[in-house]
Amino acid sequence: MINIAIETLQRIGQEFHGRGWSLGTSSNYSIVLSRDPFRLLITASGKDKGRLSVDDFVVVDEHGNQVDSTGEGKPSAETLLHVVASRRPTVGAVLHTHSVWATCLSDLYHQQGSLTIQGYEMLKGLEGVKTHEHEQRIRIFPNTQDIAVLSIELDKLLATSEPELRYGFLLRKHGLYTWGKDLTEARRHVEILEFLFEAIGRRLSLTQNV
Ligand SMILES: [Zn+2]
Repeated sequence: MINIAIETLQRIGQEFHGRGWSLGTSSNYSIVLSRDPFRLLITASGKDKGRLSVDDFVVVDEHGNQVDSTGEGKPSAETLLHVVASRRPTVGAVLHTHSVWATCLSDLYHQQGSLTIQGYEMLKGLEGVKTHEHEQRIRIFPNTQDIAVLSIELDKLLATSEPELRYGFLLRKHGLYTWGKDLTEARRHVEILEFLFEAIGRRLSLTQNV
């Protein structure tokens, strides 16, 4: 299980790096290895996501404490956000990206508190969405270095099944967190949401030049 998970996350890192969503050492990816005891495999801090080696991963428990390591790596500061999301029984994998469009839109719409996406055919790539007429809001949190405080807030909001957090959230001028029941679904949600962010961003740019 752990070897397959590492290989899959290595491939995702290469792909996301190639698409400009995980440049440099930005981003982090995780997958639930077991529920009882809770074990989460996550990329170690500061690793180039386009060239992840088998040593660039750590295993943490339900509190984000490291319980195992495939190499010398340490968990990143953002590990707690992965842990909080993954403790939900419906979440099996969390992918965090730093794309240009997520960075721009999270800044442009931060005062509204969320980004509203409505009317796009590609919305149907989100699990459970059946029509392009669907309206999906994505919550935007202020960026912070105090991940512990944000993770407590996120934990409370996820417990209420807040619709704006159904697929993930944005951090202002930072990037996207999204998830799915497994890695396949989480990867698809990244692809769909990044497409939608780019479509909205490009449309805004075109409109301003008319
Ligand atoms: Zn980040």
